[in-house]
Amino acid sequence: MKFGFDIDDTLIDLRAHAFRLYNKKLSKNVALETFQALKRVEIHEPFGLTDAEGSAMWNNSLEEIYFTDCPSFGGALETLQALAQQGHDIYYITSRPKQYCEQTRAWMEAQGFPITEGHFFCGMQDIEKVAIIKELALDVYVDDKPAVLETLQDVKTKVILKNQSYNQHVELPRLKHWQVFLELVNN
Ligand SMILES: [Mg+2]
Repeated sequence: MKFGFDIDDTLIDLRAHAFRLYNKKLSKNVALETFQALKRVEIHEPFGLTDAEGSAMWNNSLEEIYFTDCPSFGGALETLQALAQQGHDIYYITSRPKQYCEQTRAWMEAQGFPITEGHFFCGMQDIEKVAIIKELALDVYVDDKPAVLETLQDVKTKVILKNQSYNQHVELPRLKHWQVFLELVNN
C-alpha cells in the first residue's frame, strides 16, 4: 500500500517542542496544560506576544525548532519502520520552507524514519500537497491540518486526522495514538 504522512505535528511533536523552547528563550514557565488547551496552531499567545511578534519569533527560531531534539509521537517511528519492513511505500509530504528541505530529510533519517529516494516532498503549499496526494494515488494520508484534509474528501485516499487541540471540530477518522494506526487504517 501507499502511505503518505505529513511531518510536523503528525509524526513529530513540533509545537510542544517549540513551546518548551519559547519558555526557555523568554525565561517563562508557561504550563504544558496551557499549550494543550490552545485552539489555534500558533503558540505565541500564552507568552503575551501579538500575532506579528509571534510570527517573527517563530520564523527567527525555525532552525532551532526544526533541528534540535524534537521528539516524535510515541509509536510513530516504530509504525513507519514496520510498514517499510512489510514492503509498503512511505511518502513524506511537508510544507516546511524549501530552504530547510535538505536538512529536514537528513534530520528525519537521523531519527530513523525510513526514506526512499523520490518519496520525500517538501516545500509544499497546501494546494500542492493535495495535488501530490492525488497524483501519487495514496491509499492512506495522515495530517493534522484541517485545511489539507478537508479538500481531500473527494478522493479515494483514506484520510486520517492526527488528533490536536486545534482540530477538534473536524469530523474524520481521528488518530489519537500511533499504536492504533493500523486498526484505524483497516476499519
Ligand atoms: Mg502538520
